[in-house]
Amino acid sequence: MTALDKQRRKKLQAVVDKDYSYRSYYDDDIEVKSTGRCGFGVYAARQFQPGELVFEVTGQLINKKHYEGSEYVMDLDEDWYLEPSTPGAFMNHSCSPNCELVQLTEFSLGVVAICNIEAETEISFDYAWEAFDWNPKCQCGARNCRGWVVSEDEVKKMKRLAKGRKKKPR
Ligand SMILES: [Zn+2]
Repeated sequence: MTALDKQRRKKLQAVVDKDYSYRSYYDDDIEVKSTGRCGFGVYAARQFQPGELVFEVTGQLINKKHYEGSEYVMDLDEDWYLEPSTPGAFMNHSCSPNCELVQLTEFSLGVVAICNIEAETEISFDYAWEAFDWNPKCQCGARNCRGWVVSEDEVKKMKRLAKGRKKKPR
């Protein structure tokens, strides 16, 4: 067996996506589909009212003591992270989100609408990440976009970090 080069990996991943649908999801409420700008996203398949449960996020539970989750890991409670599976894993950040996360059960989070959501709208929440050197630039397109995927009160710190990042030779 040979290691997969980048191009072949991409080609084979497309086969996995098409034939095995790990990354696809559709029901009467929501749908995972391509955003056309940054990979996949979760979209409303119908209208949601403020306060309405949009869907339940389940996945792998990871003990915070030996953390090895991805960047999409979510806070479940004091001791546990939730590594969301499809469709939750495909929810994008927005600086002007239409949903927020609440703890629903011992093992799951709920995505709850915080405003009226029309069908076909992308479902988003505020990742509210801490500022680190690696935070990506935000592409949410909101009028009040913070510029980076970072929480509101970390914007100042992020601007400082980003300045330093530019100066550093790579
Ligand atoms: Zn933004």
